[in-house]
Parts: sequence; C-alpha cells; structure tokens
Amino acid sequence: MIKVDCLVIGAGFSGATVAERFAAGRNKKVLVLEQREHIGGNAYDRTDEEGVLIHQYGPHIFHTNGARIWDYLSRFTQWRPYEHKVLAQVAGRLVPVPFNLNSLHALFPAPEAERMERLLIEQYGEGARVPILKLRDSASDHLQELADYVYRNIFLGYTIKQWNLKPEELAASVTARVPVVVSRDDRYFQDTYQAMPRDGYTVLFQRMLDHPNIEVRTGADFFELKDKIQAEHVFYTGPIDRYFDYRYGKLPYRSLKFSHSNLPQEHYQSVGTVNYPNDHDYTRITEFKHLSGQRHPHTAIVHEYPCSEGEPYYPIPCRENEQLYKRYQQLAERENRTTFVGRLGNYRYYNMDQVVAAALSCIGTPA
Ligand SMILES: Cc1cc2nc3c(=O)[nH]c(=O)nc-3n(C[C@H](O)[C@H](O)[C@H](O)COP(=O)(O)OP(=O)(O)OC[C@H]3O[C@@H](n4cnc5c(N)ncnc54)[C@H](O)[C@@H]3O)c2cc1C
Repeated sequence: MIKVDCLVIGAGFSGATVAERFAAGRNKKVLVLEQREHIGGNAYDRTDEEGVLIHQYGPHIFHTNGARIWDYLSRFTQWRPYEHKVLAQVAGRLVPVPFNLNSLHALFPAPEAERMERLLIEQYGEGARVPILKLRDSASDHLQELADYVYRNIFLGYTIKQWNLKPEELAASVTARVPVVVSRDDRYFQDTYQAMPRDGYTVLFQRMLDHPNIEVRTGADFFELKDKIQAEHVFYTGPIDRYFDYRYGKLPYRSLKFSHSNLPQEHYQSVGTVNYPNDHDYTRITEFKHLSGQRHPHTAIVHEYPCSEGEPYYPIPCRENEQLYKRYQQLAERENRTTFVGRLGNYRYYNMDQVVAAALSCIGTPA
C-alpha cells in the first residue's frame, strides 16, 4: 500500500496547481497520477519532428485579468508578450473576429459601412462590445441587418460545426456572448495580461511539479491503482461521471481531431488563427510560430475537426447536460475525502487562468 498525504489525479493546470501548493505551501507528500504519457494536460506542448514547437491538443493562449494568477504562474516561467489575432474567412475575405469596425468596412460597401459605424458609435459608444442579440433589438433597421449578417455569416456555420447543434439547442448564453465590437482593436482578447510561457507550457509544468515532496507517475490510470493507494485527501481532475462509474449515464462532450502538419516554408498565414465558419469540415487553422515567436525555416499548423467521439474536450453547454451534471455534483458533495476540480471535474469550460484560480481557491491556500 502506498501512503501519501495528498493524491492528485491529473497533471494539467488544475492538478499541477493543487500538487504544487500542497507540496511547497503545506509541506505535504503528494502523489500525482496522470493517465497520459506526459504532464501538462491539454496545455501540453512539444517540438515536432522538425523541431517546431506545437500544442498537441490545440492552440493554448494565456490571458488573464487576475494579477494573483499571473504572479503565481510567473514563479515558474518567464513570458513572451503575445496578443492573439484571429481572422475569419467570410465571403472570400479574411476579416477580424470578434467582428469589429475593420470587419465591417472589409465586408460592406463604404457608404453602408460608414452609416453603420456612425449608428454603432451613437447608440453604444466607442469601444462597446454589443452582443448580437442586443443588436437585433436595436431600433435601427441597419443595425438589425448587421446583427443578422454576423449571426448568419460568422456565428451560425461555426456553431453548427463546433457543436453539431443548432444555436437554439445550446444554452442562450452561447449566442448571447457573440459580440460586435465598436472599435478597430483587432486583438482577440482584451485581458490585462496576455502572453505565452517563454519556454513553453511543458517546461512550466515541469517546474511546478519539480519539488522533493511531489512524485509524478505518468501512464498511470487512477482507476487501476486506487486500491493500492491510501491518501488523506484526493483531488480528482478527471471526468466526474467516470468517477461514479457513469451511474446516471455519460455526460456529453464535444471532441476534436487535430491534424498537425509541418510545412517547408517560413510562414503559412498572417495571424495565429484563421476561422472557417462557412467552408470546409475543419473550424480553424492555427500556425504555432505566431504564438511562440520561434524562428525556423519550417512552420507547423493544425487543423481542428470537431467530432462526437474521442477525448472529452468541451462540455456541451445546454440545460439537459447541466441538470445531469448537477446529479453528479450531488454525489460529489457526499465524498468527504475527494475534491473535484477543473474542467472535467466540474464539467465546465474553463480557461487556463480560471482553472488555476479555482484550484487555488478550492484548497483555500494563498498563492
Ligand atoms: C482545443 C482547446 C483549446 C483551448 N485553448 C485555450 C486557450 O487558448 N486559452 C485558455 O486559457 N484555455 C484554453 N483551453 C482550455 C484549457 O485547455 C483548460 O482550461 C485546461 O486544460 C484545464 O486544465 P485541467 O487541469 O482542468 O484539465 P486537463 O488539462 O484536461 O487535465 C486533466 C488531466 O487529468 C488526466 N486524467 C483524467 N482522468 C484520469 C485518470 N483516471 N487517471 C489519471 N489521470 C487522469 C487527463 O489525462 C488530463 O491530463 C482550450 C481547450 C481546448 C480543448
């Protein structure tokens, strides 16, 4: 029997944060089990066969408004400033998303674009992010037309591909979030801190977990080992339904197939990510060298194909699934010695900074 103070299941951001805080902050013996052959969870990165840094599970861009999270992670990495830009291919053009005044002028004839711009500024003010549902309720026919255009050409096709659901089948919050931005700021995120770990995410994780109180076992599935381990407390960052042996049925996830390619050219596209809302089976292409700043005669890109089967990536946001999750959550609340953490443990789409924040607060330890 292996005895530890704290057993952590999963070596992604949630697990690594809990492990680091227990080991370094509380001087506890921690065992981390990770079923994959590597640490880092979905943020894992590595070099490909030509030496170009890639994100195996799709592009991960760090951004946060939380100074506490930024300071905490800065203990384990230096940063490379990076502001992500995304273009979408619409009507044969590449236009910034979220849809902004530059997209408006690229897609509409000049007089019409100018009229809409004036109306947007008058009604909502410069810099506003106006959800398209709100824009649809505008008194102006022109702005209603704009809302419909963005809905049909940017949101609808992408959403159907991404979720294989019609927007009305998804939680209203998903549509509500799609904005028209009254500005010419093409950055995808507006957070105070936007950067990439200078040496990559995997190195950041190695540093978080490099502590004499932490033992990490990769290729180790908790469910195969749990009878051999005695722990005072367990932090579980895997899928909550699996923990309870799918008692109420499987929680639905949307998965992705990542098709990575290395190309013998310096660059492939002008920005980090290009979305394809209306064409092709893939949703987007990301070129990693924009993110990493790496200089190399080759470049690496990834196409993302949404699918139903495979690794659980995105909890599907709709009421039925939320209710099913609540039933599992009630079971979880009865587990005195196990805490459910992270994206899979809480069946919620979290960004990386949010899972770090959630992990820090669930153990009640200051960073
Ligand atoms: C395509 C994609 C792009 C994303 N892009 C961004 C982005 O740009 N910016 C951003 O902030 N966030 C992004 N995210 C979200 C980010 O990936 C998550 O916030 C983060 O990975 C969650 O960390 P976690 O530790 O909770 O989960 P995970 O990273 O999923 O880690 C959980 C770990 O637990 C392991 N595990 C599960 N079950 C077991 C078991 N039985 N035994 C042992 N180990 C187990 C898993 O193998 C996994 O490694 C993206 C997500 C996806 C899918």
